[in-house]
Amino acid sequence: MKKIFERPIISRIQTGMPNKIGLKTEYLPIKDIDEVPVKDLLKEYGSPLYVMSEKTIRSVYREAYQAFSTRYPKIQFAWSYKTNYMNAVCKVFHQEGSWAEVVSGFEYEKALKNGVSAEKIIFNGPDKSEEDLKLAIKNQSLIHIDHFDELYTIIKLTEELEERPQVAIRVNMDTGIFPQWTRFGFNYDNGEAWDAINRIMISGKMDLIGLHAHIGTYVMVANAYRIAGTKLSDLAVKIKNKYNTALSYIDFGGGFASKNTLKGAYLPGSDTTPSFDEYAEAITSSIINSEINPDDLPTIILETGRALIDDAGSILGTVLANKRMADGTKTLIIDVGVNMLFTSFWYEHKITPAQDFSHHTENAKIYGPLCMNIDVIRENVDLPPLKKGDQFVISRIGAYNMTQWMQFITYRPKIVMIDESNKAHIIRNNETLENITQLELVPEHLKK
Ligand SMILES: *Cc1c(COP(=O)(O)O)cnc(C)c1O
Repeated sequence: MKKIFERPIISRIQTGMPNKIGLKTEYLPIKDIDEVPVKDLLKEYGSPLYVMSEKTIRSVYREAYQAFSTRYPKIQFAWSYKTNYMNAVCKVFHQEGSWAEVVSGFEYEKALKNGVSAEKIIFNGPDKSEEDLKLAIKNQSLIHIDHFDELYTIIKLTEELEERPQVAIRVNMDTGIFPQWTRFGFNYDNGEAWDAINRIMISGKMDLIGLHAHIGTYVMVANAYRIAGTKLSDLAVKIKNKYNTALSYIDFGGGFASKNTLKGAYLPGSDTTPSFDEYAEAITSSIINSEINPDDLPTIILETGRALIDDAGSILGTVLANKRMADGTKTLIIDVGVNMLFTSFWYEHKITPAQDFSHHTENAKIYGPLCMNIDVIRENVDLPPLKKGDQFVISRIGAYNMTQWMQFITYRPKIVMIDESNKAHIIRNNETLENITQLELVPEHLKK
């Protein structure tokens, strides 16, 4: 079969001239975050320190919202809790109008406690206990069904409950990207999703009000969303034709790439990541150009995580030592380890000195403080010389680090948020011996 022609997309890459080693390394120190000096932050709150910028969260959110709302009349964002569930962060998103997207009973409770009304909580994920489901049904939250066993559990629960569950199904599919995420939800291409839809409709026990897909994460091809939207619209039209039911929403999940640079990428992420406009164009046009009747236009829901929050987070720290390895490699030991910067396993995080430096650079390997071989923050990076006590900023770490971190060897540090008038607030305290050990119990015979 002849391959389908695809229009080539040419977009300008904005990088400087490379030097003989690679891309240019000249940059300025980062001396403050939202006008608060790094030096003062570290002095007042200790090193290392996570810093969230409220101004950046709001401005990135508004940019994303505008990209979609200017192209489509019904847009709703739902904040992906697992990406960063610090209450202060969630509250900024909720104030901006975001609903909550949760994937566990714990996150569900957190969203309720943050004041999100239950009908604005989307409950995703393969692990919802019967207790979780009962609560979500009673509260009329939006339950996104992941597999047939969950569907049958919900049907069973409706026998003891009075409320009709408000449900959507998660659909997975081939959108041309690799790897294809097929472990969550029902497959579109082999007819499984249509089968699940028919079982829901014929059960008569619940209201199918939406369709959901979350096609992957760090998806660098906006067009993948257009394919997803076309397939989901196709299902929506079939539901309308067969059951005369119009869906109230189509949820495109998350997955937009942030501007971080993936390990092994040839160009920095800030040059290659599609803009919100490109994603919005692909998504909205897939619905607008579908066979969905304009009177039934569904709300587009977006559960964007990393692309909304990465830029707003930084971790500040201090150089502990310089060391020359036996083979001559220059290494630096810093007080930020992989336990606090989980994303250093797949990103080449940008690390910038926080004080003036000379423009001579040397290739260095950066180790964290843990007594463990895998504690490497950067395998090799061109950095100006930094001495013990010098400070630095690692940028774009707002996504997944404050949730996937682990307590290991050291205490986790404070998190502060700088508000819109450039005032810092502690939003999570540092750990202490007391609060780390408070859940431990020592059997009686070991106490003496
Ligand atoms: C993790 C997740 C998101 C957020 O994904 P990002 O890649 O951070 O945008 C959204 N929806 C679901 C169902 C998720 O599991």
